[in-house]
Amino acid sequence: MRKTGIVRDERYMNHRPGSFHPESHKRLKVIYDMLNDPDMAGQFHEVPVRRAEREELLLVHSPQYVDMVAATEGKASQSLDPDTSTSAGSYEAALLASGGLCRAVSMVIEGELDNAFALVRPPGHHAEKSRAMGFCLFNNVAVGARYAQEYHKLKRVLIIDWDLHHGNGTQHSFEEDPTVLYFSTHQYPYYPGSGAFHEAGRGKGEGFTVNVPLSPGHGDGEYVGIFEKILKPVAMEFNPELILVSAGIDIYENDPLGSMLVSPEGFAALTRSIMDVAEKCCDGKVVITLEGGYDLNGLSFSIKSVLKELAGLSETSIEDMISRGDQNKIDYAIEQVLRVHGRFWKGLSP
Ligand SMILES: [Zn+2]
Repeated sequence: MRKTGIVRDERYMNHRPGSFHPESHKRLKVIYDMLNDPDMAGQFHEVPVRRAEREELLLVHSPQYVDMVAATEGKASQSLDPDTSTSAGSYEAALLASGGLCRAVSMVIEGELDNAFALVRPPGHHAEKSRAMGFCLFNNVAVGARYAQEYHKLKRVLIIDWDLHHGNGTQHSFEEDPTVLYFSTHQYPYYPGSGAFHEAGRGKGEGFTVNVPLSPGHGDGEYVGIFEKILKPVAMEFNPELILVSAGIDIYENDPLGSMLVSPEGFAALTRSIMDVAEKCCDGKVVITLEGGYDLNGLSFSIKSVLKELAGLSETSIEDMISRGDQNKIDYAIEQVLRVHGRFWKGLSP
């Protein structure tokens, strides 16, 4: 049994982007209820939640943008982007989302926890330096990575983003930086439009952005195959000191916004694959944060499987799952990534 932390707080539900918005507070309600199931209750360690400090947000965002989000506090609906609006409690929820993740990062780095899952909202990976986008206010995972580097002096952080959508904000935060490797699988072409194979980082950061855009219909076997055959060799060579994960449950098989086919067992296998890398490189240090995911049952079932894998309450067999995948789809992704990244990562092979 490993010591797995969870970040949860009722105030994350005070962000209310509108009655019919898919990024609803009910998403967390079903997850928090699931944590009381008999097989889950008492198995996880609570991470004390705090607000992100202004200096922490400024590691990723501009002062003008932080001020703009702060100005929404206490006000009725404010629209920041066609998809993104705030309510009176949104600014606080967003501060607690980034701050809660930073707290989890500290506890994992310092060895108080083996790993952790930040069950927070609003999500973050579309948020740009000076712009809210795609349901996101502050880029939680980007703030978490920079926080680990600034306050804990880590040199190399790996961010894995399995959300249905490409994490444009995260990519842009680190695309010229070889100390943060960003790996993303996402439905493509799709919102937000970025994340092609050839987007591989710029300047000193060339090679440190790895995009694997996917057509609709990829399921457990293909996702796990891609993680094992592309992510794993690159990640092992990069040798991170901490792994952060942008976990979008919108690749779930019944998600209303997506067309991927990942099952709760598939989410467990992706977690297992990531933990294998973490155990070899960084003493198992993995901190996962919630991004998208809009089917309420999918959120509950899938997050339960991820948490069980993190805590060692289950151990999923990756091999079985890859053998069920469509080998042609996996081979196509490897071929395309090799074409762009073969010169950067010698561990990648056909
Ligand atoms: Zn998403």
